[in-house]
Amino acid sequence: MAEPATAGRRMLADGPCRVAVIAGLAWLVCYGTLTGLTADSPRGAMFVGDILYLLPIIAGPIAATVAARRLTGRHRRLWLLLAIAYGAQLAGECTWAGYDYLTTDGPPDPSVADVFYLTASVTTVVAILAGFGGAGRLRHLRGLLDSLLLIVSAGAMGWQVLVRPQLSGSLDWSNLFTVAYPMLDVMLICALSIVGIGGHQRVPLSLRLVGFAGALNAVSDMFYTYLLVFSHYESGSWVDVAFEASSVCSFVAAVVAVRLREPAAQRRVFDRGLTVLPVLTATLASLALVVVERVTTGVTSVFTLVVVGLLFVAMMVRQYLFVADRAALAEELREAVREQERLAVTDGLTGLHNRRFLTERMTAEESADPVRPLSLLVIDLDHFKTVNDTWGHPVGDVVLRECAGRITAACRAGDVVARYGGEEFVVCCPDTGEPEALALAERIRERIAGTPVEHDGPSIRVTASVGVATRPAGAAAALMVAADQALYRAKVAGRDRVAVAVSPVAEHH
Ligand code: GH3
Ligand code: MG
Ligand code: MG
Repeated sequence: MAEPATAGRRMLADGPCRVAVIAGLAWLVCYGTLTGLTADSPRGAMFVGDILYLLPIIAGPIAATVAARRLTGRHRRLWLLLAIAYGAQLAGECTWAGYDYLTTDGPPDPSVADVFYLTASVTTVVAILAGFGGAGRLRHLRGLLDSLLLIVSAGAMGWQVLVRPQLSGSLDWSNLFTVAYPMLDVMLICALSIVGIGGHQRVPLSLRLVGFAGALNAVSDMFYTYLLVFSHYESGSWVDVAFEASSVCSFVAAVVAVRLREPAAQRRVFDRGLTVLPVLTATLASLALVVVERVTTGVTSVFTLVVVGLLFVAMMVRQYLFVADRAALAEELREAVREQERLAVTDGLTGLHNRRFLTERMTAEESADPVRPLSLLVIDLDHFKTVNDTWGHPVGDVVLRECAGRITAACRAGDVVARYGGEEFVVCCPDTGEPEALALAERIRERIAGTPVEHDGPSIRVTASVGVATRPAGAAAALMVAADQALYRAKVAGRDRVAVAVSPVAEHH
């Protein structure tokens, strides 16, 4: 894909963005070095992991707030929510540092800090969904349900198979919080990839950076959870470097959003929604949950029943949304095809039929009934070049539209009015003999010449010459030639008149 490279180059071409990227990288190198240097000193590690650690975490919400203030519409909503999320993250980190410094045992588990962290995760998910515009609420909902199916399946399996056997006690709040982090993060990544990457194209770099920061945070959280459950975690450990990188990335994302002012992502007509994966995963997980529990404990617990029930309901709703989305898409496409078909035979300027439609119609008329009378009028505005030269092309267009309207108004229901070319119109009149065709031509001529055309300036007097041909002067193609020749004669004879394509030439004026 050439597009990310271009966006990356645009980012590096912008001064403040470049400074943010370089400062961020330099800070990470610095932070990593300090983490290595303080590995053996608990107080040093605490200073690095609790205090220095805060620097990009303070910069994040500030930059996000600036972005929210500078941007508008959807971008503003996105960055406002992200500012709240990053603010909650900062509050969590400060609380954590407070526990570390002010208490002897360090932070309890769970702690107030966890509430802030969870707020940050949930708000980030909401922000990302708000940031991807145009996909429609139902698709967002389906993306969320897909994410839910995946994480509940994976989470319940992980819980049953990996975590539960390790924990002697029953379900308690501390465990729930511990597992909630990675689950929410996985949800963030799922929502991002399903709604964002699957449902959109040209995703702005800033949003991709927010997503990358979220992914980095999720991976770090998994390591953190692993350390917490199976080993030991202290502020200032290596996993903090990954968290720090995530915060730097969020900060850079905000700077990019402010500086590059990228357009919102575009909705894919056919979203690459995961069609079978969530349903398959949820079905298999439901089965596996029941079977594993039966085999290991001999019973089916309420926990398992609730999870399986939840998965089932989510799957049904998700399938309904999927079908509804495809039905809406099919209708949208049918409508688009109808519109394309209409446009293919319509003249853009006047809204009349175009030459293509006329040709098709005349061929059809000819083959339908070769003996029925058929008349053709070719109408050409007189000295139209002068109108353009005097008033300019846009006024010329106004005159063309006005004349198109007058011609249509003069015609009858069955007549086909088309713009044949520049300032030339053709009326095809089925079931019309020469006298009626002549009368119509005269009516059209009078309507055009009778009233000057109004525009933002002195009104313009317009006249038209009309050539008329009636079958059996010839077949459809020959009819056109005959009418054209008649028109030529009308022009030569002095314009603003009607000429008929039979010899002797009948002129009316
Ligand atoms: P005549 O009486 O011999 O028909 O003279 P004329 O000036 O009308 O004939 P000519 O064919 O030389 O000029 C037609 C002009 O129509 C030239 C062209 O610039 C103008 N024209 C063609 N299409 C458009 C259009 O879409 N908009 C405008 N404003 N002018 C157009
Ligand atoms: Mg002309
Ligand atoms: Mg012409």
